[in-house]
Amino acid sequence: MSGLPEACLWIDGADHPGRGAARCLVDPAIEAPLSPFREADADQVAQAVATASAALPRWADTLPRDRAAVLFRLADLITQDADRLARIEAVNVGKPLSQACRDVGRAADYFRFYAGACDKLNGETIPLGPDQTALTVAEPVGVTAHILPWNYPISTLARGVAPALAAGATAVAKPSELTPFSAVELARLATQAGLPDGAFNVVLGGGETGAALAGQEGVAHVTFTGSTATGRKVMQAASTPVAGVTLELGGKSPVIVLEDADLDAAAVGVLRGIFFNAGQVCAAGSRLICARGVHDALIAKLAEKARAMRLGNPLDDPDMGPLVSAAQLARVEGFVERAKAQGFTCALGGQRVDRPGFFYPPTIFTDIPPEAEIAREEVFGPVLITHLCDGAEDALRIANDNPYGLVAGVYTRSHDTALWLARRLEVGQVFVNGFLSGGDTVPFGGVKHSGIGREKGLAGLSAYLAPKSIILNHAGPT
Ligand code: NDP
Repeated sequence: MSGLPEACLWIDGADHPGRGAARCLVDPAIEAPLSPFREADADQVAQAVATASAALPRWADTLPRDRAAVLFRLADLITQDADRLARIEAVNVGKPLSQACRDVGRAADYFRFYAGACDKLNGETIPLGPDQTALTVAEPVGVTAHILPWNYPISTLARGVAPALAAGATAVAKPSELTPFSAVELARLATQAGLPDGAFNVVLGGGETGAALAGQEGVAHVTFTGSTATGRKVMQAASTPVAGVTLELGGKSPVIVLEDADLDAAAVGVLRGIFFNAGQVCAAGSRLICARGVHDALIAKLAEKARAMRLGNPLDDPDMGPLVSAAQLARVEGFVERAKAQGFTCALGGQRVDRPGFFYPPTIFTDIPPEAEIAREEVFGPVLITHLCDGAEDALRIANDNPYGLVAGVYTRSHDTALWLARRLEVGQVFVNGFLSGGDTVPFGGVKHSGIGREKGLAGLSAYLAPKSIILNHAGPT
């Protein structure tokens, strides 16, 4: 008995059973089966996009203050239903209950933030001389597709769908096949909040469903979060409908700790950066680049704190739950075993926990050469590696020598050094003396292999708006 609701599709304001393959997932903490569901077939994906297309004129023409009222109401409904939604996320993903509660709160906050933006989507006027007036109107882009990963199902869904709806666009979402449960719950609440039928649809399924959605004629923009390899495929598929893409891809984010850093603060940030959500975080700080003189002291602090972390059933709110699936556990084990076979020093963990469920303990490898597989590839698990550095310039060189460029952390007491680094790090976001701080109103997204475009904050609206220029010629009185 999973206690999870039935997962189904949500099309045109009502639930529908999928007509595709049958799926049955397992609870990652105890390996017991969860409620079965059926994926969408290709016709249902097309139907969802057609429905979103049909709903577009009505939603786009809804007065900004009325659009805002619907989104504010949806935020309130999420807040009222927060305990139930958090339990769904905790059981399905395997994340500690308090972290799941935080995710649900973030989902409500995205809708509140973007509700407030509905009546502030101003255009501009462009000077062309006294006999012409040029102006832009911020029109909704059209039907938007949202292809989601499994690590933050409800908050990542809200991160994309809230600005799309605020802009007057409509949406079709495909959650990960591993985490289908919360998406339809959110869509149901949206309908309850007064969103017109068809403005927000959900289709379930795996990679094929995602590919069908991204390549569907009628889709104007695809927002994808996941691995870089899949991001490339999404980009290709989106070329069929000539849709825009926002790609929030992987990372191998560096946290630089210099000699003068507050080591206690750094230990807290590094620990949170790699072990939160069992390291299944795109912005995880998985590469610690530490000044040689303080490296061992910092590792001692990290190891002490990590050893004290409690692994357990998500509903008991431990410090760390299981990984999301057997496949993810095998992937993490694979990286660790290959690193051990190469003779790298494993200072902590490195061995699967002997209990049912997909648990993996906090693991730290020290002094890894930058070219090693485990230093370059996204493990997406609770595995930290360290590099030793000699000063800020050396740290910068190591940090930038990686194909990814999502976020970075810097710990130093010198503001000059911090800013010097922040301006030169090849990433989309830099945290100084507080890794993963800042919240969801700050633009977020990567450079290099970490993606294209920005989500969160006001910058997150631009993907869903298509400015139209209107040029008025007015020769004057005749
Ligand atoms: P994917 O990138 O494969 O999946 C992300 C989403 O894309 C899922 O909804 C997936 O469907 C869908 N998808 C898969 N193939 C296609 C396709 N050809 N066209 C359109 N959509 C598609 O991630 P995985 O779940 O397979 O995880 C693998 C690795 O990716 C992780 O170990 C991690 O390294 C990285 N990752 C990074 C994330 C991030 O936030 N940066 C998030 C998740 C994973 P479905 O899963 O249902 O098959």
